[in-house]
Amino acid sequence: MSTRDTLHTDLLVVGGGPAGLATAIHFRRRLAELRREGSELPDFTVTVIEKAREFGAHCLSGAIVDVGPLARLLPGRELPSFAVPCAEEEVAWLTQTRALPAHGSRASCVSAGT
Ligand SMILES: Cc1cc2nc3c(=O)[nH]c(=O)nc-3n(C[C@H](O)[C@H](O)[C@H](O)COP(=O)(O)OP(=O)(O)OC[C@H]3O[C@@H](n4cnc5c(N)ncnc54)[C@H](O)[C@@H]3O)c2cc1C
Repeated sequence: MSTRDTLHTDLLVVGGGPAGLATAIHFRRRLAELRREGSELPDFTVTVIEKAREFGAHCLSGAIVDVGPLARLLPGRELPSFAVPCAEEEVAWLTQTRALPAHGSRASCVSAGT
């Protein structure tokens, strides 16, 4: 007889990076919407498994974060307290002697100050 633990789940998301966590959040939110609208869907359980010691340990340094997708994923939430909006941003190609301006806009970024 097997002694392995088992856990029933309706949706298993492998990997707790941004994509996996967003998948789980979207799925639960959409399910809640459909149930509020009268759908008789069951309250599916969602499980996220992550091989790192904690979520995010393998992915984000958090130096620069595009807040657009985060705001759409978690509407109404404040930015984390460590986040500092970029007042000004410059992109440059660095050579050994000069910094050459490179054009591009990332106005929706915040910096964690790292
Ligand atoms: C050094 C570094 C710094 C970065 N800094 C930034 C930054 O400041 N800002 C920014 O926006 N982006 C940054 N990025 C890019 C960002 O990390 C990726 O775009 C983002 O993590 C991709 O998300 P994802 O969910 O697709 O994949 P991942 O974040 O790679 O998530 C996949 C997850 O699945 C887990 N996993 C894999 N196999 C298994 C398994 N078999 N069982 C269980 N779990 C598993 C992994 O541990 C991982 O946590 C950085 C990337 C690196 C490498």
